[in-house]
Amino acid sequence: MKNAAVLGAGTMGNGIAHVFAQSGYQVALFDVSEAALTRAVATIEKNLERQVAKGTLSAADKDAALARIQTGTSLEAAVSQADLVVEAATENEAIKMKIFEDLDRLAPAHCILASNTSSLSITRIAAATQRPEQVIGMHFMNPVPVMKLVEIIRGFKTSDATTDAVIRISESLGKIAISCNDYPGFVANRILMPMINEAIESLHTGVAGVAEIDGIMKLGMAHPMGPLQLADFIGLDVCLSILRVLHSGLGQPKYAPNPLLVNMVQAGLLGVKSGQGFYNYAAGTKDAPVNSYFK
Ligand code: NAD
Repeated sequence: MKNAAVLGAGTMGNGIAHVFAQSGYQVALFDVSEAALTRAVATIEKNLERQVAKGTLSAADKDAALARIQTGTSLEAAVSQADLVVEAATENEAIKMKIFEDLDRLAPAHCILASNTSSLSITRIAAATQRPEQVIGMHFMNPVPVMKLVEIIRGFKTSDATTDAVIRISESLGKIAISCNDYPGFVANRILMPMINEAIESLHTGVAGVAEIDGIMKLGMAHPMGPLQLADFIGLDVCLSILRVLHSGLGQPKYAPNPLLVNMVQAGLLGVKSGQGFYNYAAGTKDAPVNSYFK
């Protein structure tokens, strides 16, 4: 396994390309958007430079990692030599199904097809191909160069050989791979999202304010940040869509998204990326929210 293709050059795709290139893999980074590719390379370079400044990477290794990344907007060129594809395109089932149909035609027969999806069914994505035993979930955490975990999701037909290979590849990236079966939300989001939803429910029903909920969870549970700040960081739209997958896939009312979360997404309050969520980021810092919802 020497050649990796990464599909989608956004937040996750650039991080995944970064760790593969730094670990010695040749990386073909593909996106439908030239602008996304340009941004991704600039981000990877900046993040590698930060490692050099910290003394955890030599300047020569930074240059070598960057030289291993080729970018392009042709899917065929990106995957024609790939041993492993990691798909990290927009979280949209139609987009992913089309990508996997195309991959099945364009990638070499031995190539493993992995998806970084946060919530979509690996079994369903695998059914778009004629090689479901070689399709698997490889769920990296954000920010990819920093976070140790890769959650490995076995689809219904994923083979043991594919699972073993992907665990070994994750370890070669300096990550710890832990595997689970393919049910809505897998493990990470099945447990995290109800916690975030419950924090929003506590706010919505007046149990406590934003700072109090986050302060209690941060200090009391030794979490690096409280659940409302984490929701802002993940994106409130992303949290809402994962809760909807849990709610429809598992069919239990406890997963129903809290109406305050729905309202905030409808109002365009998406968290850090939109400048306001449970906190206000307009000044570039994490400030108390101005919205009367949170008083
Ligand atoms: P993003 O919006 O930052 O990037 C998505 C990229 O996909 C964009 O650059 C877009 O141009 C590209 N794209 C769209 N259609 C494409 C296609 N047909 N082929 C190739 N590229 C295409 O999204 P992201 O946050 O990087 O998320 C990517 C995937 O990773 C999603 O499945 C998401 O659920 C998952 N994920 C995200 C996080 C997170 O914290 N952001 C964490 C874990 C997993």
